[in-house]
Amino acid sequence: MHALPNYFDLIVVGGGVLGTFHAFHALNKGLKVALFEKNNTPIDATVRNFGQIVPSGMNAKWQAYGRKSLEIYQSIQAKTDIGISQNGSIYLASDEDELQLIAELHHINQQNHYPSQLLSAAQCVKKYPSLNTDYCKGGLFFEQELSANPRVMIGRLQQYLAQNKDFFHFPGTLITATEATGSQCRVRSSNGNIWYGGKVLICSGSDFKTLFPQLFQQSDLQTVKLQMLRLMPQRHTRLPGNILTGLSIRRYESFSECPSYKSIKEKENANTFWKKWGIHILFKQEEDGSIILGDSHEYADAAYADTLSFDLREDVNQYFIDEGKKIFHLEHWNIDTQWAGFYSQGKQHDIYLHSPDTNLHIITGIGGKGMTGSAGFALENITNLLGT
Ligand SMILES: Cc1cc2nc3c(=O)[nH]c(=O)nc-3n(C[C@H](O)[C@H](O)[C@H](O)COP(=O)(O)OP(=O)(O)OC[C@H]3O[C@@H](n4cnc5c(N)ncnc54)[C@H](O)[C@@H]3O)c2cc1C
Repeated sequence: MHALPNYFDLIVVGGGVLGTFHAFHALNKGLKVALFEKNNTPIDATVRNFGQIVPSGMNAKWQAYGRKSLEIYQSIQAKTDIGISQNGSIYLASDEDELQLIAELHHINQQNHYPSQLLSAAQCVKKYPSLNTDYCKGGLFFEQELSANPRVMIGRLQQYLAQNKDFFHFPGTLITATEATGSQCRVRSSNGNIWYGGKVLICSGSDFKTLFPQLFQQSDLQTVKLQMLRLMPQRHTRLPGNILTGLSIRRYESFSECPSYKSIKEKENANTFWKKWGIHILFKQEEDGSIILGDSHEYADAAYADTLSFDLREDVNQYFIDEGKKIFHLEHWNIDTQWAGFYSQGKQHDIYLHSPDTNLHIITGIGGKGMTGSAGFALENITNLLGT
């Protein structure tokens, strides 16, 4: 048996989607790469999300990364099943204002050469027969967009990477210290083992306490808590693709680039339940017929992330269900599981990039766009970091 090497061209700390795609691109550039993950398998934001890969929801900069991600996901899925499917994304408008916004986003995307299709209410109902006709006034459909099964995608991607002889995976290994030592870096695990890397990337998600805690506390990073639930499988109802509704049209960054966005937002009542808990309503059905339904948003600065309540709120769940019922007629609304997910994001920056040393780089704070943007962003970032 060969001993595992203890020197790598690149060490990545954090096996979520951001870290894993940095490892993926580095391997494609011929590097020897080690990926360290503190849990036996990732259990944080990367597996707790909807799995909606929706460049249509991003601003122009992140739409470009998202569109690159679509290509990357599809090229991997063509080789091995990582749980990606192409059923598109639909935004369902519930009133005249939201109709106006989807028309404007359609126009923006025509100029960006990103295919989308405006649908009448009748066309939406034809596509989704269980849609409530009282709710839907029209829709905007993005045919190229993908969905991931978030519970399986990252594990399968890492298994795929493991076929590469230059990939070394260290699950269940908490990195507790990093040190730059001239031309390379050293990382130490909680059980005292040491590895060396030409470069080290820290993609630690919302863990602000283990590595560089002071740096994170002084940054503009915050932790965001999202509440989610899963409905038990529907036997016959099918809701393919990513389904985003009126409140998402009022929330997602892409719409903030629409000419009418500001005036429409100004008309909103500031004292609604959905505003208080940062709720918008998204549906994502899995292959087994179960439906992920969410979500809500609560925020705390990195230094006080532990002040976010660990409770799941029943009134928030009930709101998801009550609003959901206005949108679709489902066979049942029986909750199977419910959970909270946490991600990190910057208040001022769309991603947190900080280099304590020339060979040591922190990459986190990708916010609510990591399943969409990470693959494309990581390609550009690794190319910049390696100077290739
Ligand atoms: C409820 C929810 C819904 C979402 N829905 C979507 C969606 O539909 N579409 C979309 O694009 N995005 C979505 N997102 C956002 C997306 O999930 C995140 O942007 C993305 O997963 C962040 O990836 P990450 O790798 O930065 O962080 P994480 O997934 O948190 O991964 C970081 C990893 O680093 C590990 N780690 C941390 N410190 C150490 C250490 N010292 N040593 C070893 N390992 C360490 C952690 O264990 C963890 O596995 C959602 C997020 C949530 C929470």
